[in-house]
Amino acid sequence: MSSNSDFLTSPHGSYQEAAEALAAAQSRYVANNPLSKKQHELAVESLPGGNTRTLLHTSPFPLCMKHGKGTFVWDEDGHKYTDFVGELSAGLYGHSHPVIRTAILFTFDDIGLSLGSTTTYEARYASLLCQRFKLERVRMANTGTEANLHALAAARHYTGKRKVVVFNGGYHGGCFSFGGGKAAPNTADKGDFVVVQRYGDEEAAAEAERVIEETAKGGNLAAVLVEGLQGAGGCLPGSKGFLLAVQEAAKRASALFILDEVKTSRLAPNGLGQELGLSPDLVTLGKYLGGGFSFGAFGGRKEIMDSVYDPRVKGSLAHSGTFNNNTMTMCAGYAGLKEVFTEEVCVEFNKVGDDLRERLNDVAKGTRLRFTGRGSLIGLHFREDGTLESQERADLRDLFWFEMLERAFWMTRRGSIAMMLDTPKEELDRFVDAVSRFLERYAGIMTL
Ligand code: PMP
Repeated sequence: MSSNSDFLTSPHGSYQEAAEALAAAQSRYVANNPLSKKQHELAVESLPGGNTRTLLHTSPFPLCMKHGKGTFVWDEDGHKYTDFVGELSAGLYGHSHPVIRTAILFTFDDIGLSLGSTTTYEARYASLLCQRFKLERVRMANTGTEANLHALAAARHYTGKRKVVVFNGGYHGGCFSFGGGKAAPNTADKGDFVVVQRYGDEEAAAEAERVIEETAKGGNLAAVLVEGLQGAGGCLPGSKGFLLAVQEAAKRASALFILDEVKTSRLAPNGLGQELGLSPDLVTLGKYLGGGFSFGAFGGRKEIMDSVYDPRVKGSLAHSGTFNNNTMTMCAGYAGLKEVFTEEVCVEFNKVGDDLRERLNDVAKGTRLRFTGRGSLIGLHFREDGTLESQERADLRDLFWFEMLERAFWMTRRGSIAMMLDTPKEELDRFVDAVSRFLERYAGIMTL
């Protein structure tokens, strides 16, 4: 291994060493996971690339999970992992929470699937969501993507305008992705989006104010859509000052301010927006609020929601969706939020996350690894000089991923952790230790 001083005098040595370590880790992965490999070879015969959810593709082949229990998962080859993927935040309750189980069994046995009618269960859950997240009205959908789709439709219908200001690194669903400073090719109504190039800080606020004002001058700005913490964008929190400035700029421009809380609603008892003193016109929700089933919701000011979506109002928009009010989601989501993820539990849970991140950043001091996020959502960053502004080191990120699998932690390869409730403290301690060992083992390439 090259020493630190070798790295300083010979930067390429570091890349070479990382490449060798990565190749070795990948070979061990292939050797350790023959059944996942075999499954992938079968899957490519019917799914493009063996995949139906792009994020889960990892080369040379993805790990194929067989089952999960509590906060652990087991792969096809029989390895057990602590689940830090946490289904990208939707898996808050773990794989087999007893309250969710009871709600599911009760729904199946005593209510039944697909009643094809309104039910008391949807109204009951709507009332809880409104109360918890300070919404005057809410509507259900099936995914966070759909929630944003309908919230944008509402903003366009309400304002009679089309354009939407979003932020670099923002992710609002499978067809609303704004990494790399521009709308992804598969963005719905791509031409309607104007992307602010920065996110989160004072400079970003100034740029956002300018872009919002300029776009509004064109007379066609319907909404500003933003996350309080960019989840898919790397778990990067927006500062309170930034978010308030964006909200005010949207108001000055008579555009609706839409806060995407699909990921962040779990970060504070009434959602991150309430915690930061924001007052969005519309909020979008999803993930864990389906109790483990697919879910989305959008809501906010009644003046907007009623005029756009009340079917009794002439000219209102249709908002259809066979599964919008499906009994399983309405009951499991309700049980989870009412009985398990109470406001008190939310506060305690996120404290555990803050504490974990602090410990991780302590062990990572002076290295290329940095942990970001807020509460129970954590982002991992591998950067050339350890700052978020410096160049990303995908090679180190991949090496870390392979190594953490060997140490029995299931994580996203892009580097994110969405904690589950009830993950044993020993597992969190074990992770801090594993990170520390990784940094020691690869000191030659990880230490600054
Ligand atoms: N908004 C945000 C902030 C998200 O993180 C996601 C999903 N990662 C979505 C919207 C889309 O949710 P879904 O995957 O349920 O469509």
